[in-house]
Amino acid sequence: MTTIADQLSLAQQRIAQSARNSDRHPDQITLLAVSKTKPAPLLQQAFEAGQRHFGENYLQEALEKQQQLAELPIIWHFIGPIQSNKTRPIAQHFDWVHSVDRLKIAQRLSEQRPASLPPLNLCIQVNVSHEASKSGVAADELMSLAEQIHDLPNLTLRGVMAIPMASSDPAHQRQQFSQVKKLFNELKSRFGGIDTLSMGMSGDLDAAIEQGSTMVRLGTAIFGARK
Ligand SMILES: *Cc1c(COP(=O)(O)O)cnc(C)c1O
Repeated sequence: MTTIADQLSLAQQRIAQSARNSDRHPDQITLLAVSKTKPAPLLQQAFEAGQRHFGENYLQEALEKQQQLAELPIIWHFIGPIQSNKTRPIAQHFDWVHSVDRLKIAQRLSEQRPASLPPLNLCIQVNVSHEASKSGVAADELMSLAEQIHDLPNLTLRGVMAIPMASSDPAHQRQQFSQVKKLFNELKSRFGGIDTLSMGMSGDLDAAIEQGSTMVRLGTAIFGARK
């Protein structure tokens, strides 16, 4: 039987191989374990195998697992769509948010971030595939949103996140990721402290790393298929 530890180790090897293929150092890429729909004991197994960063999409589910795993120094990332009436628990219980695409959400997160906690790390989600169904700010609106978010007090703007259109064609994957990379570079040249390019999932990890990803978000590759 393959264990979570085996799957994690394979994922790390795949990241390292992709990094080397692109003349990058594996240390430049953080693995975010996407644990949505998976029960707390599986997260614990991943933690025991050395995993520290976990990503969740559904607030209620995430809060329950956080309670169950309260003893573990996990770094929690919120990566799902954010409704404005859900910002308070996100501001209170997460270390990172990847899926901000509106000023109103960022303002609420900043206002609601407890003073006892460090600033909330934030990535702006960008939509480069022009899919109307998808969250994310359009490329030409990124800079003005970033400027406004950068001025908010209890947040640290770290970079951009993208979920490109699903494609099994590596050329198409690369083309979309390179657009995100360009936006990341523009952000970096405008503001200090920008260091996170959150892109790449189980099916397009290699193309994402080749195009400069610094954080890959893997669910299926670590925990198996979701129902
Ligand atoms: C579910 C999800 C992932 C992980 O997807 P896999 O294909 O299972 O690796 C990554 N990022 C986001 C935003 C997700 O919602």
